[in-house]
Amino acid sequence: PVNTLSGMQVSVMTALVSFDRVFEVLDLQPLIAERPDAESLPAAGQALAPEIAFDSVFFRYPSADEVSLASLENIALRRPERLDDSWTLDGMSFVAPAGKLTALVGPSGAGKTTITQLVPRLYDATQGAVRIGGRDIRDLTLQSLRDTVGVVTQEAHLFHDTLRANLLFARPDATEDDLVQACTAARIWDTVVALSDGLDTVVGDRGYRLSGGEKQRIALARLLLKSPPIVVLDEATAHLDSESEAAIQRALKSALAGRTSLVIAHRLSTIREADQILVVEAGRIRERGTHEELLEAGGLYAELYRTQFAQQSSDELQPEASAAG
Ligand code: ADP
Ligand code: MG
Repeated sequence: PVNTLSGMQVSVMTALVSFDRVFEVLDLQPLIAERPDAESLPAAGQALAPEIAFDSVFFRYPSADEVSLASLENIALRRPERLDDSWTLDGMSFVAPAGKLTALVGPSGAGKTTITQLVPRLYDATQGAVRIGGRDIRDLTLQSLRDTVGVVTQEAHLFHDTLRANLLFARPDATEDDLVQACTAARIWDTVVALSDGLDTVVGDRGYRLSGGEKQRIALARLLLKSPPIVVLDEATAHLDSESEAAIQRALKSALAGRTSLVIAHRLSTIREADQILVVEAGRIRERGTHEELLEAGGLYAELYRTQFAQQSSDELQPEASAAG
């Protein structure tokens, strides 16, 4: 038993270390591990991008105790259901159809970011299943999941390394041309060439400190390089100046074309273009439909629209008035 135990320890460490590497870009501690019999999704490019499905997903964030227990034992968190407690995701079901843009909207704290964290398995559902292409994501290899899903959050995380290394992380076989193209489309190339070492400039706390907007453009360049079949995006408006916003939007649009995308939408233009809007409130999907359908319905979306998005609508009609924002 001692031998078995020490052998287990090694495999536990290996699994944790390799998973760390997979998601270090997000700088989050994964709590989950790969099954020994995990399978890969069919290679990208063969077929239509796969759909994402949430099937009665209940989720609550683990407590600190549970986190340390899980990393010691390398087990997915599974606790008896405490149905009396409130859930962060409260029996959530939806399909983000293949190749379509699904926008998540809803009040702060509704659970939108949590949804986007379950797709790349930063956490596992407490109950229920998240599926990609019909497969429970817990049955997939982490490599396959990583190859399939590209995530851009509001806080882009870069390694203390060169810009080149930070970009190649997304696609190790990218050529110099690929890097230049991706940086140009993401509107970061002018910044890169202005640096004394160009792509070989070391970034991070002890190197060149990128601004929030620059980091976000690097993250977008990574997404363009990786070009994954599934794109999960926490759309940010905060870091971008309006001058480059239109260009970034064009780059994003090409990054999302033909992909299955799940976007926490802050921009009215994204919401309007979405094939489907999911209105999230208190861990549930309260409404679903297109912009027109939901406005017509006169429910929560119509209210959110009036309070949050109508201002953007008038800004779009008078672009010079919003230039300062
Ligand atoms: P949204 O993105 O819609 O604003 P979130 O998914 O970020 O909502 O949050 C949903 C709920 O989960 C909130 O009550 C929030 O406080 C809680 N929450 C978010 N992240 C964590 C975390 N890492 N640990 C514990 N609770 C969290
Ligand atoms: Mg959020």
